[in-house]
Amino acid sequence: MGTAIIERLACEGRLDRLFIGGEWVLPAGQGRGAVVDPSTEEPVADIALGNAQDVAVAVAAARRAFASWSASSPQSRAVLLDRVHGLILQRAESFAQAISQEMGCAISVARAAQVPIAAEHIRVARDLAGSYPFLTHRGSTAILREAIGVCGLITPWNWPLYQITAKVGPALAAGCTVVLKPSELSPLSALLFAEVMHEAGIPAGVFNLVNGEGPEVGAALATHPDVDMISITGSTRAGVLVAQAAAPTVKRVAQELGGKSPNLILPDAALARAIPAAVAAGLRNVGQSCSAPTRMIVPRERLAEVERIACEAASALVVGDPRSPQTTHGPVANRAQFERVQEMIGAGIAEGARLVCGGLGRPKGLERGFYVRPTLFSGVQPQMRIAQEEIFGPVLVIIAYDNVDEAVEIANGTVYGLGAHVQGQDLAAARAVALRIRSGQVHINNPPWSPHAPFGGYKRSGNGREYGVEGLEEYLETKAILGCSQAPGGDGGLMPTPWQ
Ligand code: NAD
Repeated sequence: MGTAIIERLACEGRLDRLFIGGEWVLPAGQGRGAVVDPSTEEPVADIALGNAQDVAVAVAAARRAFASWSASSPQSRAVLLDRVHGLILQRAESFAQAISQEMGCAISVARAAQVPIAAEHIRVARDLAGSYPFLTHRGSTAILREAIGVCGLITPWNWPLYQITAKVGPALAAGCTVVLKPSELSPLSALLFAEVMHEAGIPAGVFNLVNGEGPEVGAALATHPDVDMISITGSTRAGVLVAQAAAPTVKRVAQELGGKSPNLILPDAALARAIPAAVAAGLRNVGQSCSAPTRMIVPRERLAEVERIACEAASALVVGDPRSPQTTHGPVANRAQFERVQEMIGAGIAEGARLVCGGLGRPKGLERGFYVRPTLFSGVQPQMRIAQEEIFGPVLVIIAYDNVDEAVEIANGTVYGLGAHVQGQDLAAARAVALRIRSGQVHINNPPWSPHAPFGGYKRSGNGREYGVEGLEEYLETKAILGCSQAPGGDGGLMPTPWQ
């Protein structure tokens, strides 16, 4: 079915076009980019890549649309987001197939996670558009939260639709207009998303899609003087480059970057439950999640038991063809990622860490495709490369500690601070540890994912927050209008306003 989607997109000319100003247009850029199926290593599509000229046209379209979209009632924006939400759910299977094809996600995971939780960001944005207090008063000062303007949104390939909706939803709810540049490695789901926006009736120029490469299209967005804000999810390397490029025009930069999140297993944790959950979370999406808890920090006296249970859990994963409904873990998303993961497994071995399971090379029977053996290292020292650097693949490290203070120090001992897990039976103790961890999220005993929980990084994991109210506020400016004395029940002289 993935192939059928590509055939349709090709037939309708989508692969050759960008979506700008409410229309599918041929780009000025002459480049093409291959979409490679990571399970076969074969190219399955090639798409038109835009350039800086295309960015300029898209930004101009977004600028033209900004005045009316930002002045539209939040309720009308909610109605449009509701249509987008409905269309994503209606086309859930097509999105799942496209994601599975472009980045190798097991179809069961694409269906159960990639698509439904992506839709959640649009649902939450819809609800917030209808309920957020865009106008409040403080004495005789009216405080308006206004759309910041034209936003450039740069997204990665690991959760391709989810990262798009986490930005587009709140940006549109806030009244911003956007130019989206998805990862050039996962453009199919982005093309389907642009179709949804079009069919939902998004006014021309409010949403624009420019496919292309980071150093060309992403950099053009970051430097463009008429872009008011850039939000990027990706590597810390790209996030730094975007911030540098954005600095001369003093635009707002939101960065969701890398991570090396800890999973701190407290001495009283019920290992039979905690360790399989830790392995599942660390290896979710084949370890290709920025907040994946990839460092298991465990009590030294329980190390042998942890290794045994972790190894059993990793061995139970079904690595294979992402199209098979039995597969839990497909290949990693691309050749660069495969090589990076192999390099890091090699680095772990060279540094003297001990392989508990997995290791170099592909799993038995999978000679083709970017498949990686789920790999656990123990005997890991906190300063080893495999304990410090983001690997972005199915590789977990187990680090032993002697007391909880040391465990917290290890947990905080990287340049990152995105996610964290704490597991233990004494909830008060687990909460006390959560308070000491320097990261944007801490999960106690594996709670369900929430689209309302703000998400973002401390330290080099980024700046800003996504999801929920905080995610909406990223896209707002604050304006104070002084001298609006408010009569009881009145509006301080600001009515009628588009914000009410
Ligand atoms: P990347 O940072 O290179 O790409 C992410 C996005 O940024 C893409 O859309 C890319 O085109 C764009 N980009 C790249 N260079 C840019 C530049 N100079 N200016 C503007 N935009 C630019 O990430 P990747 O190649 O997709 O993956 C490499 C590493 O990034 C991974 O190994 C992983 O560590 C990390 N990563 C993190 C996340 C996350 O969610 N935090 C997601 C994907 C990848």
